Amino acid sequence: MKVRRNLQTIDWNEIKLVVFDVDGTLYDQHALRVRMVRDMLFHTILRRDLGFLSVIKTYRHIRERLGDMEVFDFESHLIAETVATTGFSEEKVLTIVHEWIEQRPLPYLLSCRYPGLTELFAGLKRSGKVIGIFSDYPAYQKIAALDLAADYIVSAQDDGIRLLKPHPKGLELLISKAGFTAAETVLIGDRIERDGIAAQRAGVRCLIRSSRPKQEWQTFVRFDDHLFAPLLSD
Ligand SMILES: [Mg+2]
Repeated sequence: MKVRRNLQTIDWNEIKLVVFDVDGTLYDQHALRVRMVRDMLFHTILRRDLGFLSVIKTYRHIRERLGDMEVFDFESHLIAETVATTGFSEEKVLTIVHEWIEQRPLPYLLSCRYPGLTELFAGLKRSGKVIGIFSDYPAYQKIAALDLAADYIVSAQDDGIRLLKPHPKGLELLISKAGFTAAETVLIGDRIERDGIAAQRAGVRCLIRSSRPKQEWQTFVRFDDHLFAPLLSD
């Protein structure tokens, strides 16, 4: 297997700060999507309303592009462009995003959480590690809904960041807030083009949760992988 030598092992003694991405890393996004599509279908039938679907689709599409382009103050561009594309008012767009992207998924998150996270988070705390969250979406409520706890939570829309991944600003801010260095940090994510590149640019080691190996990247399938074994044993 073609893996860089320095990626083959991770010395957890060197790591003080363990930073997690949220969506697709801490929970199964496909499982959540199935539940959300069911809710959207009910909503469409009951309310005879299709408009919210175009807002969500447009919003997501523009968000991805603003991430690729690394646009500063992405949120105001995102809302303005969604308003312009869909023809809905700003108030309506904000309401739909709040309801369908931020609030409605919350009660489903715990049932979609990946196994082994309670044990890993407990192991990290037991080993004296600091836990950080670095997300492109607001994450406080999600972490609580996942029944997990973190020492630091940083999201792309926070003041002082306002940039989506793969811009490393949020990660760098988190590391300095926690009082560590890039070398003492590891980022655990699911998207190479977002988490992987952000970590690389911040000089931070990265582990990618993936069912398939990714060339040049250290991956793992489950949170009870042998990679985490030193943290899981007492
Ligand atoms: Mg993710």
